Amino acid sequence: MDGNPYKQEEKYTIIIGCGRLGANLANTLSDNGESVLIVDKREEAFRKLSPSYGGLTMTGDGTDVSVLNEAEIDKASAVISVTNRDNTNIFVSLIAREYFNVPHVIARLYDWERECVYQEFGIDTICPAVLSFKEIDKLLSGEGEERGRP
Ligand code: AMP
Repeated sequence: MDGNPYKQEEKYTIIIGCGRLGANLANTLSDNGESVLIVDKREEAFRKLSPSYGGLTMTGDGTDVSVLNEAEIDKASAVISVTNRDNTNIFVSLIAREYFNVPHVIARLYDWERECVYQEFGIDTICPAVLSFKEIDKLLSGEGEERGRP
């Protein structure tokens, strides 16, 4: 990446991991006119971004502090780590929060037992299994009424 044009802007989001979730998130933020940079260790992962994606991409390992420095993490208002590995997401989030003092840090965790541990560090976590459980519970409790079934 040659020079980061976002460094002076107020709202700047860095996403680590360009899988389906990361790419969709980057597309949405970019479509909303926000400044976004997405990092993935595999260059081909960026093919998931939409042709209209107007943000930046960077090939590199999100756990590598030199990559985070190049992404100008110290200027980020939010870091969202959504790789497929909990340990990577935790590591990136702790660096972002504790070392670079990024105001808003979000990590995806597959293992829900680790979720509460990170809240004390000011890291928000999203756990797909917990979200699915809540949605299923909502559907079950609202079944019949909301969908107009007898
Ligand atoms: P998914 O499995 O669809 O959630 O995608 C996860 C993405 O995270 C993949 O594109 C991986 O290449 C990417 N990824 C995994 N580990 C790292 C890492 N340490 N740094 C950057 N990207 C990573």
